[in-house]
Amino acid sequence: MAADILIKNGLVLTFAPDALTGGMVDAGAVAIEGDHILEVGDGAALSAKYPGARVIDAQGGVIMPGFIVTHTHMPYVLGHNMPVDFSQLHDFWDMLQKMGWEWLEDITTQEGVYAATRYAATKMLKNGVTTVCEFVEGPNALPGILDASAKAILEAGIRAQVGYEVTERVPGKHILTDVSVERAEQGFEENIRFFKKYPKGSSRIEGRLGLHTAFTNSRPTMEKARKVADEYGVGIQVHIAEIPRAFVVEKHGMSAPEILSETGVLGPDVVAAHCIDLTDGDIAILAKHGVNIAHTPMTNSFGGNGVARIPDMMAAGLNITIGHDCFFTLDIAEYLRYAFLLHKAHNANAGLLPVFQVLDMAMGNAARALGMADRIGSLEAGKKADVIVIKPDSPSPIAPCSVLSYFDMTFQGRQVDTVLVDGRVVVEGGHSTQVDEAQVMKDCQEQAKILWRKTGVQI
Ligand SMILES: [Zn+2]
Repeated sequence: MAADILIKNGLVLTFAPDALTGGMVDAGAVAIEGDHILEVGDGAALSAKYPGARVIDAQGGVIMPGFIVTHTHMPYVLGHNMPVDFSQLHDFWDMLQKMGWEWLEDITTQEGVYAATRYAATKMLKNGVTTVCEFVEGPNALPGILDASAKAILEAGIRAQVGYEVTERVPGKHILTDVSVERAEQGFEENIRFFKKYPKGSSRIEGRLGLHTAFTNSRPTMEKARKVADEYGVGIQVHIAEIPRAFVVEKHGMSAPEILSETGVLGPDVVAAHCIDLTDGDIAILAKHGVNIAHTPMTNSFGGNGVARIPDMMAAGLNITIGHDCFFTLDIAEYLRYAFLLHKAHNANAGLLPVFQVLDMAMGNAARALGMADRIGSLEAGKKADVIVIKPDSPSPIAPCSVLSYFDMTFQGRQVDTVLVDGRVVVEGGHSTQVDEAQVMKDCQEQAKILWRKTGVQI
């Protein structure tokens, strides 16, 4: 067997099976053939074994699997830095209706989705994220919004699961008084068309049905979501308990986990974002069904939603992963560090969430949540060659004894130097090899301007 690429001269972190017990190889190397990993081992030995391979020199840095983010809305970057009149926002409900829906999702266009997704995907790759689960929203950009998203994802070079939100919400109408099953049908149609176009394993893109929330859908729509997901062999992504529990109880007579369980939605193929306002009983339901949690602590803080009970959910055996809604910088280091710190502060307990547990949220846990553990999340022979090289900026040595702490203390996404997806170098020297970054940013800013103007911003 001949390797095409040999990444060597670095500290290799395999994350197999996890961050704490995964193998580390000092002065190690990763041999890659085509789109998959051939071998992980001692640098000198692999150099001798694969003399013809193109060498990527990690220069004493860290070689590891790419990070995985399990919940995002990439078009949200158009709302970054939007001059919002916060005096109009009194609580999360205002924030969702005005900032989330009226000022963003309802005026989203396919051109906007394409430009924003290309920007966000490129930015995430540059920060070491190689796989993302994307939840597209934009009820006035149907049909075809997922094609705009997929085009951008393929051009940027990232791996993604993608789905459109199924919701009965009607743009411009009040969610409590005017809902429409036809709207949900349009969402199903968009997803199904996409699942047929991108069958599992055919490309870097695959489907994951989006079900917006239990609050914005009726019982029959939830039941249909499970049927469609099973028919096409895709998982489900859903928001759970981002809003107060009482809202859902008022509408359905039971909590979100309860009605999602009753309607058959929940299962081990479900990735549930947020999961904040939950009782012990709700957590037990999620655990019983083996639901995967996408923890999004920064947006939850931004929205004043409260703090998800992550330590309790871990104790209940739930699989916790990291999501970020595509707010803020898209630097994975920020989200990991925030998750690392938040629960310690919130519970006044420095012993909670050691760094290895937080790293697993963006590695093996995330790969399992997306049903991709056989392909990504660790460096092992046969897995996809989604590999990153970090050149740490650190005041202290980065060695097997210190490298895990590096990720809670001094790691920043900009220290990621090289990124491979499917064995292809998509970031080199910290820059995209796939797109013209200046043009991508310019196009995104243009679309942001167009969107902002619709909200009355003069720019
Ligand atoms: Zn979300």
